[in-house]
Amino acid sequence: MKKRKIIIKLAAAIIIIAIFISGGIFHYSTAIFGEEIKSKLGFSFDSESYANNDNGFNLILVNFENYLPQNYSVKLKSFAGGEKVDERIYEPLKRMIADAENDEVYMTVVSGFRTREKQKNLMKEKVREYLKLGYSIKKANELSKKWVAPVDTSEHQTGLAVDINQNPALCSQDEVYNWLYDNAYKYGFVKRYPSDKTHITKIINEPWHYRYVGIEAAEIMKKENLCLEEYIQKYC
Ligand SMILES: [Zn+2]
Repeated sequence: MKKRKIIIKLAAAIIIIAIFISGGIFHYSTAIFGEEIKSKLGFSFDSESYANNDNGFNLILVNFENYLPQNYSVKLKSFAGGEKVDERIYEPLKRMIADAENDEVYMTVVSGFRTREKQKNLMKEKVREYLKLGYSIKKANELSKKWVAPVDTSEHQTGLAVDINQNPALCSQDEVYNWLYDNAYKYGFVKRYPSDKTHITKIINEPWHYRYVGIEAAEIMKKENLCLEEYIQKYC
């Protein structure tokens, strides 16, 4: 009788220890391989993770599930008109705008780097617009996200993205968007949110939003019709 009790206790102890160990191993392996599996399968264990510079500053992926760390720092340089960009994209952007002018296409940078505060306020303004139209808070938030990226998910906070529009006195919007679509890749910029990638980016078509990724990546993305998420999954 005594012997049986000891055996039962031992078995219970072994089971408890086994549960602890396997739980620990599972937790450890998810932490180590989570990122790898995520990139291969295209989904994440966590609902969100943090953007990083592992593939180079130019390929940092900031989107609805990759948050820009709050301590991300960037050296800025002011562009004509007052908008600021990451100093590393200043020259290619300047060259692109100058070359467009040679083709009689006149562009202006209407939005460059944004602080967290600025991004937060843009979202608040958009939500307020929808509330005024009579939508519930939940619906207003949902609709706003299609137009404005929530704080820390906007590429504008990196200084690597710009919204470009026309100089209205000198040319049309279509001329600018078409020129950018055809030529931006030569300078390392890509149309970040094309209409045929909305299911991946979760952002509607934005013909004005261009993101610096470097010439090498931009050429491949243009040639193979890949958005940044697809490019990183395939080549990084
Ligand atoms: Zn933008």
